[in-house]
Amino acid sequence: MYLGFLFIYFIALSHGATIEDDNYSVYQGYKIIEVTPESNKQSKILEQFHEQQHKVPSVIFLSSTKLLNSPILMLVPPESEIELQSVLKSVKLPFRIIDDDVVTSLREERSENSRRRTPSRMDFESYHRFDDITEYLDDLSKKYPQHTALVPVGKSYEGRQMNAIRITDNSESRSTSDRKVIFIDAGIHAREWIAPATALYVIHQLVENFDSNRDLVKDYDWVILPVVNPDGYEYSHTKERFWRKTRQPNSFACIGTDANRNFDFHWGETGASSYACAETFRGPKAFSEPETQALKQILESFEGNCKMYLSLHSYGNYLLYPWGYESTLPPTWKDLDEISMAGANAIRSATGTNYTVGSATNVLYAAAGASDDYAFGAVKIPVSITMELSGAGSGGFDPPARKIKPFVEEAWIGIKAMAASVTKKY
Ligand SMILES: [Zn+2]
Repeated sequence: MYLGFLFIYFIALSHGATIEDDNYSVYQGYKIIEVTPESNKQSKILEQFHEQQHKVPSVIFLSSTKLLNSPILMLVPPESEIELQSVLKSVKLPFRIIDDDVVTSLREERSENSRRRTPSRMDFESYHRFDDITEYLDDLSKKYPQHTALVPVGKSYEGRQMNAIRITDNSESRSTSDRKVIFIDAGIHAREWIAPATALYVIHQLVENFDSNRDLVKDYDWVILPVVNPDGYEYSHTKERFWRKTRQPNSFACIGTDANRNFDFHWGETGASSYACAETFRGPKAFSEPETQALKQILESFEGNCKMYLSLHSYGNYLLYPWGYESTLPPTWKDLDEISMAGANAIRSATGTNYTVGSATNVLYAAAGASDDYAFGAVKIPVSITMELSGAGSGGFDPPARKIKPFVEEAWIGIKAMAASVTKKY
């Protein structure tokens, strides 16, 4: 028993709060390369190359799409450069070096990005660490007990407490079990920092700007979980900026599962790797990760009441609805399309940014075992949407600090419009 505790303590130390900041030195010699496939043959060979990237180090695809004439960014380790170039040459696909010194760019970006939050408020001028985010939710629940409540969701593999916040209008004094729910999560992929920032902005608006947004909480409670993958999120702040997966080891060399391929709905069928080192590793089994189990449980606790599940990701400006595991559309796809279009149209008329709307498989690529399919297919939440936010900075995942505010404000316009459309319809 005592040894068991010691062991857990050791694991916590080696994985947890003591991760040293090593200034992203792992990316020494890495480059970011952009290609734009213009033919199906080029697209196909790139896809095959992508599927082979399941060793460490590998080329990391920072974006991927099957739409022709859309740029694809890759993070290329020095060991893989020659192989990649010969693949591209074989299909006459020209490439452009976007960044030939990734480490320096990341260090510059980080010095601009990482400042601590001013206590007791949230600013949208820098990316905040997980502890800061947790503290912010805690502060809100104490300051606005009439409108907010912390909802403990579970613990991450490294033992971080994951909390959601429930935002409600108590003036109608209905019991919580009767109230309809809009559920939002973010940060299931570690490196997509603008997603938790957006979730925090939604929380900030609904709680600290309650009176202006009262209509949105009149009939619906909002439950928001800003960081689904806190271990990966912290790791992407300290060691590998482009880390995507969870942090639970799978083998000696390979850590982490793609949490967004780990849900038990057509798990592992398509677009999810069985190789433990791959970026899209589906996990040794469905729900192998404590973080996906936690999300499953909280979603199921709102079964019947939850009318909208919105999962925030970056990047690419997409609003995606089911299915992600196959190209057939669900019978209610017109409703899903109408709600997503409400978001896309609101954003377009406010800022001019174009969001592409469609089913995940048809617009991007098939990816089975994702949270949006699970919410829609297993928990029967009638509206399930994945929002791929705007990108900028190194590899697209790192909008500079000055862009956080305009990006989250823009996303909020779309989210409000989708929520308004859902509350009217359901
Ligand atoms: Zn993502």
